This record gives sequence, C-alpha cells and structure tokens, in this order.
Amino acid sequence: MNSSLPFGNTSVCVNTIESLVDSEQAVSQANKGNVDQPEKRIQRFIEAIPELLDWLEDCGRSYPWRETTDPWEVYLAEILLQRTRGDAVEKIYSDVLQKFPDPDALARTSEGEIEDLVRSLGFVNHRTRTLADVGKIFTEEFNGEIPDSVEELKKPWRVGDYSARATQLFARGQPMALVDANFARVIGRILGYEMPSQPHKSDDVYALLEALTPDDPDIARSFNLAILDLGAMVCTPKNPDCQSCPVNSACDYYDSNRSGDDSSSKESPK
Ligand code: SF4
Repeated sequence: MNSSLPFGNTSVCVNTIESLVDSEQAVSQANKGNVDQPEKRIQRFIEAIPELLDWLEDCGRSYPWRETTDPWEVYLAEILLQRTRGDAVEKIYSDVLQKFPDPDALARTSEGEIEDLVRSLGFVNHRTRTLADVGKIFTEEFNGEIPDSVEELKKPWRVGDYSARATQLFARGQPMALVDANFARVIGRILGYEMPSQPHKSDDVYALLEALTPDDPDIARSFNLAILDLGAMVCTPKNPDCQSCPVNSACDYYDSNRSGDDSSSKESPK
C-alpha cells in the first residue's frame, strides 16, 4: 500500500506550503471576491494550513476509497458519493466493487441489477443511468480503460468536474482544486470571500482554489481531504463548531462573530 494513504502528507511546515502555493494569484482572486485585506487574509490561511493537516491526521475520516489509488475504484466511489453521505456509500462499496471490478463488468450488467445494488443510496434512476453510461462509454470509447483526463472522465451522463477532478487528484496524484458547496462554504467563511450562488461554475472560484492548492501530489491530497472533512465535521452549514476548529485563528467568519461585530461578515451566522 502507498505510504501516503489515506491522507497524503500531513506533516508539512509553513515554508513548504508557501513554496507550493501561488499566493500572488490567490490574493488577486481574493480581491475579486471582495475579501477584506486580502494579502493578510491569504497569508494567515497559508500559515494555518500545517495545523489543518495535523487535524486531518488526528481526526480525518477513514473510508476504503481513501486506501486506494486505483483510478476505477476511486472513480466509482466518487459517482456513488454524488449527493450521498460517505457512511451510506461505505455500506455497499465492497459489494459494488465485487460486482463491477472493471468497466466491462459494468457494461455487461442490466440496469435492473445496477438499480438493485445502489437502491439504498437514493437518487436511484439518476445513479443507475450514470453507471450504465460509464460502462458503455468506457468500454466502447476507451477499450475498457479508465480515461486519463478530466474532460474524458466527464463524458458519462451527469459526471461533473468534481468527480473527474477527484479521480485525477486522489488516484493519479495530479494536484488540482476541487469545488463543491462544502469547499465553497469553508473557504468562503475562512477568507470572507463572497461566493457566487453556483461556485462550481465559477472560473474565479476555481482560480482561487487552484492558487491555494499546494503543487505537490501528497500535499494536494491532504489539503483537499482536510477541507472536505472540515466541511463535513466542523464547518457544517449550520452551527459550525468554531471553538474546536483548527483554522479558527485564520478565519474571517470566526473573527467577525467572536468580536460581536458581524458587519464585515459576508455570511450571517446560522
Ligand atoms: S472557524 Fe468556524 S467558520 Fe471558520 S472554518 Fe472553522 S468552523 Fe468554519
């Protein structure tokens, strides 16, 4: 097993982080989101990243798809995780892998059988159609292989940037930013960045996250997993647990609400 699994490299100093992020570009993008004192805010966040990675090492969630860098196993997990909690996916993940060890096996399976296997996750019609399309496209267009580009991974019905990018990042070690509602909420709060209503469709948000993602496979992995788990466990949509948050020293939302002056906050406390 790869020694960097499941969390990547979580033991990193500030100097290393500074050498791997594009702080100039991050400041420029932060300006576009009306971040107050963007240089200071970006620097404080960069300085808090080692603490965030320490927290991941201690508190990060263990899932079987975090213990593999097999592109098929990671890609399949990302499809099952669409709009679905990890705990629910974990219950059926090994059965799904056993039934579909590769795209050919998926292509040979009827939609009824796929449906039965993923029923417990909800969004059954949606997920069944996506999985059936994955089997068809990967066998017909890619000779049963897992394509190696974000655009090609997005070819099956309703597979978006997040699933494709997560596969390239977590399976193939390509440092890249992930953007979904959780990432947008966490980064938006930390920086005081005014997020658009559909952050995953915003080039500016991608540019900000790309600039902040460390340009190293193992640290990009740990950085993204840390934001992902922080959003699920601490920086939740309602009632974020700021007191126990590893990056509260760098967080605009925390500063604003702790001081009792939320006039600079870009989001009302929930
Ligand atoms: S301090 Fe609070 S708002 Fe800021 S990142 Fe942590 S949990 Fe989220």
